Amino acid sequence: MHTIYLDYAAATPPDERVLAAMQPYFREQFFNPSATYLAAKAVHRDVEAARAGVAGVLGARPADVLFTAGGTEANNLAIHGVMQAFPGARMIVSSIEHESILATARAYAHAEAPVRPDGVLDVSALEKLIDDNTVLVSVQYANNEVGAVQPLREVAALVRQVLAGRRRRGNSLPLYLHSDATQAANYLDLHVSRLGVDLLTLNGGKIYGPKQTGALWARTGVALKPLVYGGGQERGLRSGTENVPGIIGFCKALEIAQDMRAAEAGRLRTLQALFFELLEQLPGASINGSRRHRLPNNVHVTLAGQDNERLLMALDEAGIMAAAGSACAASDEEPSHVLRAMGLSDAAAQSSLRFTMGRGTAEPDIRRTVEALAGLIA
Ligand code: PLP
Repeated sequence: MHTIYLDYAAATPPDERVLAAMQPYFREQFFNPSATYLAAKAVHRDVEAARAGVAGVLGARPADVLFTAGGTEANNLAIHGVMQAFPGARMIVSSIEHESILATARAYAHAEAPVRPDGVLDVSALEKLIDDNTVLVSVQYANNEVGAVQPLREVAALVRQVLAGRRRRGNSLPLYLHSDATQAANYLDLHVSRLGVDLLTLNGGKIYGPKQTGALWARTGVALKPLVYGGGQERGLRSGTENVPGIIGFCKALEIAQDMRAAEAGRLRTLQALFFELLEQLPGASINGSRRHRLPNNVHVTLAGQDNERLLMALDEAGIMAAAGSACAASDEEPSHVLRAMGLSDAAAQSSLRFTMGRGTAEPDIRRTVEALAGLIA
């Protein structure tokens, strides 16, 4: 049976070109990049070339790219790093962040900014939450459950305006904007100065690269305390011998994803429109999340009165892999905090399914999936 994979927001299959780029660093190029002999120096140069490659995609300085073991760690470095540099200060997150942001923010004085029913941040509500003691705002670029793309440029403009007011009043506390771009990197512009962010999280495992790879970009001048102490790698902020194959693979994956992003976004938009159209013919179906401000690969639907766990199991038996909410919250039994924040009832949340498309998705997959669903809810 031909299986249909519709969970690309949870994991993406590594690109062959990524695997090929990584291969030498598991074998003949295994050296520690900090060692002194020429062979190790060559590996060091390759790591720095990867850093420059990532920086090139971001339009940033290579020295500001810090390699991490995935998105969770980059988010932890951003939050702990800033909040420990400014003890006693507060931070604000959106209420639909991934747990790696929400759970980390709970270690500090923080507030959660609400979203509108379409899953897009309410920027005026965020504005009211920012006070003179707020040092960090973290708003994801795109949501992992409903694909809502957040108004980052608007938030960046607000942050600049707040900062200007602070300076006039003699308050020298910075206000940094961090964004988790984990789900955005396949489809959206990552140029940091156009986005107006100060820190940005990237995640290799969602862009057809290796899992447990990624980076935090932090603009020069952003005060950060280390997350991991030790040998002083990654400017002393994240010690530990570099995951060289992972770094090489992550950079390759990011470059490929950004090269393909316009074409893939266009192709998936067409499939997404078809997916919505077919789903809306099902009884009790309603699409969740903004249609306009949305990743092209995300489809999220409530099927009123249906039990999403039953549907997922039955779809799996039919060879179709999908999700209810986020697979990244491995142990979560609670209804999704994202759907709750958007105002869905617990019952509606438990009747909801997430389908996320990717490079392997084609039109017949969409038709077969909706046909299977129709049969299951009949
Ligand atoms: N941020 C977002 C928006 C995510 O969707 C995920 C995982 O799905 C993460 C962070 C965490 O990524 P990882 O589990 O690879 O560290």
